[in-house]
Amino acid sequence: MITIALSKGRIFEETLPLLEEAGIRALEDPESSRKLILDTNRQDVRLIIVRASDVPTYVQYGAADLGVAGKDVLNEHGGEGLYQPLDLNIARCRMMVAVRNDFDYESAVRQGARLRVATKYVNAAREHFAEKGVHIDLIKLYGSMELAPLVGLSDVIVDLVSSGNTLRANDLKAVEHISDISSRLVVNQAALKLKRHDIQPMLDAFERALKQ
Ligand code: ATP
Ligand code: MG
Repeated sequence: MITIALSKGRIFEETLPLLEEAGIRALEDPESSRKLILDTNRQDVRLIIVRASDVPTYVQYGAADLGVAGKDVLNEHGGEGLYQPLDLNIARCRMMVAVRNDFDYESAVRQGARLRVATKYVNAAREHFAEKGVHIDLIKLYGSMELAPLVGLSDVIVDLVSSGNTLRANDLKAVEHISDISSRLVVNQAALKLKRHDIQPMLDAFERALKQ
């Protein structure tokens, strides 16, 4: 049995065509089904539906053989026990620093001010500001980061941005680009050795699909 961990929403939807290339079709839609284990047209392949940030954990411990996870999530997890053979180029967005429209970020940085940073991406934020030599107090959040500067919880946020509409709707502006984000295929290192015969053809099919 090969178990593939995916999260609902964009990752599931954007991974479907790649699975199709490998001859794998889900028999149910996670948006309408409440099931967390989905059968596929292949008796030896199943999909499990987990929270986006839990995908690396399932794969690390071998509860799933493969998974699809954003670079944001992989950076926070650390990537231990994971082989990352392919950038799937899906779920693309950018990790940015954002502030209120009326906050002068440049001069705060120039003056060496200590910044309060609210984010779900604490590793990414720590690395980014350490590289800039900016001292920060980190405030860990689990979502809706855009709210933090509006109510005085933080000076800045580190968040994922695609269109910028959410920032604009909340009178925020992006002031720094930290990194480009996309999702990668992750594989349990032990499973790759033990089940190479089954897993390698899938990796080859994904790679073919990406080249099209
Ligand atoms: P959860 O909703 O479980 O709290 P999440 O918001 O990180 O977690 P998703 O919204 O499903 O989960 O996002 C999955 C992945 O897609 C993220 O890890 C990130 O790599 C990427 N992503 C997040 N936001 C966007 C976006 N606005 N546009 C494109 N890709 C995004
Ligand atoms: Mg989300």
